[in-house]
Amino acid sequence: MRHLILDMVLTSSSLQHTVAQKPETEVLRVSEIFFSLQGETSRVGLPTIFVRLTGCPLRCGYCDTEYAFYGGESMAISSILEEVSSYEAYNVTVTGGEPLAQKKCLILLKLLCDAGYSVSLETSGAQDISRVDVRVVKVLDVKTPGSGEAKKNRWTNLKYLAQQDELKFVLCDELDYQWAIETIRKRHLDHICPILFSPVYDKLDPALLASWVLRDRLRVRVQIQLHKLLWGEGPGR
Ligand code: SF4
Repeated sequence: MRHLILDMVLTSSSLQHTVAQKPETEVLRVSEIFFSLQGETSRVGLPTIFVRLTGCPLRCGYCDTEYAFYGGESMAISSILEEVSSYEAYNVTVTGGEPLAQKKCLILLKLLCDAGYSVSLETSGAQDISRVDVRVVKVLDVKTPGSGEAKKNRWTNLKYLAQQDELKFVLCDELDYQWAIETIRKRHLDHICPILFSPVYDKLDPALLASWVLRDRLRVRVQIQLHKLLWGEGPGR
């Protein structure tokens, strides 16, 4: 069924009009494509196909995907779509690195939506999201001081978020936690979309973070990376 939908998408004349580029000739650098459980966000636990694109201009101190900064394989977008379809699943997450660092990621996102997948995008918050297909659920990081990349937050992105999207704070310590509260208050972030608080793995105790959130009656979701609980760190998960 998925193959049939994909064939229709790749050959439809409407596609040729709405996306000037052809998926057979447009290429992205891909670090890995794999099938796993979504470990984060409101989609946690859902079987999901992950497309991890290579490269990221940021260098967060806690980064757990440094292996995706370099290397990877150049793939035509049509080949990416075919590999995605081979898993015969419904949910797709495009991640990185920073997927939007490759501009043709926008084409991939649109074609995944056209093919009928439920698509989410994990992005650093440092890249322009204004042209991301509106059907894509955007999970946008807000970089904290502890990340070392807080100056890269592109605050103009906030106006392109909708209720279906999510804002994610990855927290290193209590200073990050207090900064996050102040940022939510100052920028009215809780009026935009749901907010995620995620402790840095092996650095901030999740139980401690949970106690702070309960104490302060915050309207945020505390999340722990499910895939790391199940399988530890490493590629392909
Ligand atoms: S934005 Fe993401 S991929 Fe890039 S350095 Fe930070 S944590 Fe790593």
